[in-house]
Formats: sequence, C-alpha cells, structure tokens
Amino acid sequence: MICGFCSHEFEESDGKKGCGGCPGGCHSIHCPRCNYKNPLEPALVRKIKKLLDKGADK
Ligand SMILES: [Zn+2]
Ligand SMILES: [Zn+2]
Repeated sequence: MICGFCSHEFEESDGKKGCGGCPGGCHSIHCPRCNYKNPLEPALVRKIKKLLDKGADK
C-alpha cells in the first residue's frame, strides 16, 4: 500500500498495526516512515482496485 501522507510504498505487513496509541483501538496501518495512520482497505475495495489496474493502459 502507499502511505496517504508521504507516498511511501510499503507492504501492509511492514506497517505498524495495533499501535496502542489510537483511541478506541488501532484499526489502521501506520506508515513505517512517517507513522501516518492509513485506513485499512477492505478486501472488496482492493479487489476492485486490482481490476481497474488491470484494465488501465500503461
Ligand atoms: Zn508515510
Ligand atoms: Zn494506531
């Protein structure tokens, strides 16, 4: 995924999950570079994005 703040690309598994610092529990992935709280993408959204990506001319 790509950080919405600094555009740093990282694997979801590399991001910080469950940081313990977010109110109400952490349900986001923090960027390993800037610690920005990226919202988790639901699996459905990811699927659609993949489909769109496939169809796009590059
Ligand atoms: Zn970032
Ligand atoms: Zn958090």
